[in-house]
Amino acid sequence: MSKTILITGGTGFIGSNLCKELIKDENNRIICVDNNYTGTLDNVRELLDNPRFKFIEHDIIEPLNIDEKIDEIYNLACPASPPAYQGDRAIFTTKTCVYGAVNMLELARKHDAKILQSSTSEVYGEPLVHPQVETYRGNVNPNGIRACYDEGKRCAESLFFDYHRIYDLKIKVIRIFNTYGPFMDPNDGRVVSNFICQALGGEDLTIYGDGSQTRSFCYVDDLIDVIIKMMNSEDEFLGPVNTGNPGEFTIKELADLVREKINKDLKVVYKPLPADDPTQRRPDITLAKTKLNWEPKVKLSQGLDMTIEYFDKRLKGKI
Ligand code: UDP
Repeated sequence: MSKTILITGGTGFIGSNLCKELIKDENNRIICVDNNYTGTLDNVRELLDNPRFKFIEHDIIEPLNIDEKIDEIYNLACPASPPAYQGDRAIFTTKTCVYGAVNMLELARKHDAKILQSSTSEVYGEPLVHPQVETYRGNVNPNGIRACYDEGKRCAESLFFDYHRIYDLKIKVIRIFNTYGPFMDPNDGRVVSNFICQALGGEDLTIYGDGSQTRSFCYVDDLIDVIIKMMNSEDEFLGPVNTGNPGEFTIKELADLVREKINKDLKVVYKPLPADDPTQRRPDITLAKTKLNWEPKVKLSQGLDMTIEYFDKRLKGKI
């Protein structure tokens, strides 16, 4: 059966990978919505001539009207890298999370569409429970420099569940942990892109703090797989569900791995740890395994190889 699927944040890192996967099904029409603040049309260039793909430049802070019938909405729009969402952009980030959620939920209501929200591991803040289970309510600083994103995403979850309770809207909520892979922005300041681009450029790798903080890194193909599985899961399963790779690494270990792969002689330099930078992050993915029959397949070393290959081509202007 043919479906029209709207993806907000469709030219961003995860959104562009999702567009490319969903368009493979000839029954799908994709409407890609983005303001291109952190995304870029280059990420979906190969789709622009496809008659089943349409790009709309729009900021979801503003309401969106679409005439054709929409069946599904993936709400991915929001800057996700700390340097992109903080500072002068903080209020814009909160508005993107909150006004954006309201506008997309209203659009879903109008079209009687199913809507999936990309929430985040950031709802757990500085977690006191490790690994993080979905029932853990988190430890977020409500007025720190990350709050615009963390609290924005928490409020969006609240809105999604209220629209479900009040209007019986079909909702799905996933909590995305750190994700990496092709079509990340080389300049977005996240640790995987920073380390790889620094190493490829022969520069020292910048570790913030002492490098003992941990993150769990999921390769983007695994994430796309679970996002689609979640959208297609039984209506009763709303989430929130953790989507991430439970393999946990210190930032120092990640730096060593990247140096080993690209150039062992490069040094690391230590820089101050940003405020409220979480000490540890690892998803408990029991729920995703049982409800969605999903677990990530790509190991960090293998995923890094594919990501290094991508950045190498991109930095040489071959993509
Ligand atoms: N980080 C680092 N060097 C960098 C960029 C980030 O050591 O060049 C650290 C950052 O302080 C954090 C971790 O790596 O502890 C992951 O940062 P990222 O911005 O990728 O994601 P998030 O903090 O949102 O999990």
